[in-house]
Amino acid sequence: MARELQGVVKGLVKVAEPLARYTTFRIGGPADVLVEPADEEDLARALAWAQERGVPVTLLGGGSNVLVPDEGLPGLVLRIGLDGIRWERPGDGGRRGVVVGAGTVLARLVHEAARRGCRGLEPCAGIPGTVGGALVMNAGTRDGSIGQVVDWVRVVEPGGQLAVWPREQCGFAYRSSRMQAEGIPVVAARLVLDPGDPQAILQEIRRHTAYRQRTQPLRYPNCGSVFKNPPGDASGRLIEACGLKGLRRGRAQISEQHANFIINLGGATAEDVLDLMTTAWRCVRDRFGVILEPEVRLLGALARRWPPDPVAPAPAAGGDGA
Ligand SMILES: Cc1cc2nc3c(=O)[nH]c(=O)nc-3n(C[C@H](O)[C@H](O)[C@H](O)COP(=O)(O)OP(=O)(O)OC[C@H]3O[C@@H](n4cnc5c(N)ncnc54)[C@H](O)[C@@H]3O)c2cc1C
Repeated sequence: MARELQGVVKGLVKVAEPLARYTTFRIGGPADVLVEPADEEDLARALAWAQERGVPVTLLGGGSNVLVPDEGLPGLVLRIGLDGIRWERPGDGGRRGVVVGAGTVLARLVHEAARRGCRGLEPCAGIPGTVGGALVMNAGTRDGSIGQVVDWVRVVEPGGQLAVWPREQCGFAYRSSRMQAEGIPVVAARLVLDPGDPQAILQEIRRHTAYRQRTQPLRYPNCGSVFKNPPGDASGRLIEACGLKGLRRGRAQISEQHANFIINLGGATAEDVLDLMTTAWRCVRDRFGVILEPEVRLLGALARRWPPDPVAPAPAAGGDGA
């Protein structure tokens, strides 16, 4: 498979590549084949190749919101590293467009925007990962999310052709998007930002970052919030009220600092994490009648193991909370 692929794509092709190093959780077995496409066409070629052969494909950005199974991922893992930021001249009322590659590190974009006096990305300050991952997850905080500043997103449609989807077609909602629901690769996007004072924007970014440092267990590998917040409540509050802070399974632990974070104490497995997620999910269901929905993306075989017990009707996602 790898040799054949090397003849098709220009980018890097790695066989049996351990994925733990590509995730902020530092968890995950090997990809059968990991490909880092060189450009958009390369990505489209790799996708077409996989589609023709019925080879499963998993998309990966910065790996900050994924749980990769211990046994790894079958088929092709496409790590999207298409980076680049192109600023346009300010337009009406000083608003400014920026076209950004999906593999661009989100933090780089947030800081460039601030330095140029462009507002709108402050809620994304301190969120790890890539712009592509952020678009797919509609990343943000209770102060706003990235979908709000999107003009269009460039994607690879199932037939393999590149297409531009205006924001209205992207289905942005709380930590979700149409791209996420349909597994559509994002290669670039155009955002439009409002003018603002660079110092005030930087100040705002510092405020967001300081809040994270105060409230999140950033010294340990983690994947951010494990569960989405249910309507009108916070998953962290519910898990904490179940008395689960500090609970350990193997080398994974429900953070003492923030109950909606699971931390890797060093050597945790995906099974350890899934076990803690299952315990938290069942306790919250039994005690509060609330069905939590994972925010972390369970990849490969893990996706088929969630929810741990049958659920009816489907849970509704709420909004950002504490
Ligand atoms: C310490 C910490 C704090 C966090 N805080 C926040 C927060 O405040 N708010 C928030 O929203 N999130 C937060 N997160 C979660 C995470 O950082 C975001 O969801 C981030 O946007 C994911 O980007 P990524 O590139 O790492 O995506 P990945 O984790 O690589 O992927 C996430 C999902 O997107 C898909 N994907 C990735 N790239 C693409 C692409 N180009 N095209 C199509 N699909 C793709 C993957 O298949 C996967 O399903 C936090 C995470 C950590 C570790």
